[in-house]
Amino acid sequence: MPTIFHKILRHEIPATVVFEDDEVMAFKDIHPKAATHLLFIAKKDADFVPSIADLTDATAHVPGLLIRKAQTFAKEQGIDGYKLMFHVGKSGGQEVFMLHLHFLSEKKLNV
Ligand code: AMP
Repeated sequence: MPTIFHKILRHEIPATVVFEDDEVMAFKDIHPKAATHLLFIAKKDADFVPSIADLTDATAHVPGLLIRKAQTFAKEQGIDGYKLMFHVGKSGGQEVFMLHLHFLSEKKLNV
């Protein structure tokens, strides 16, 4: 079933996109828990995984992909301190079942 993030990916609902390439999109969290609170998601169908709990050998690279893009983005933005987080499962605080990496920093973005 398509999640709200699938709809953002297809531009069916609006989001403030701060980074996008062939593999990954990052947009602002609608309820920010830090000065900068972004969500990184994978774009390719083959990289779709609902949660860390659902990873398989075929999708094991996806968290690394999201982390690498977040790291590159932070470097480009001059952000040297940040938190990266995955909520896993309903009891782990996960609400949207399309794997996403939370990026939080007290430094404000220029975008
Ligand atoms: P999680 O609890 O890990 O599933 O995180 C889901 C996150 O998505 C929460 O921090 C929400 O604030 C955020 N969120 C929900 N709907 C939207 C939306 N339409 N645009 C941006 N962020 C959203």
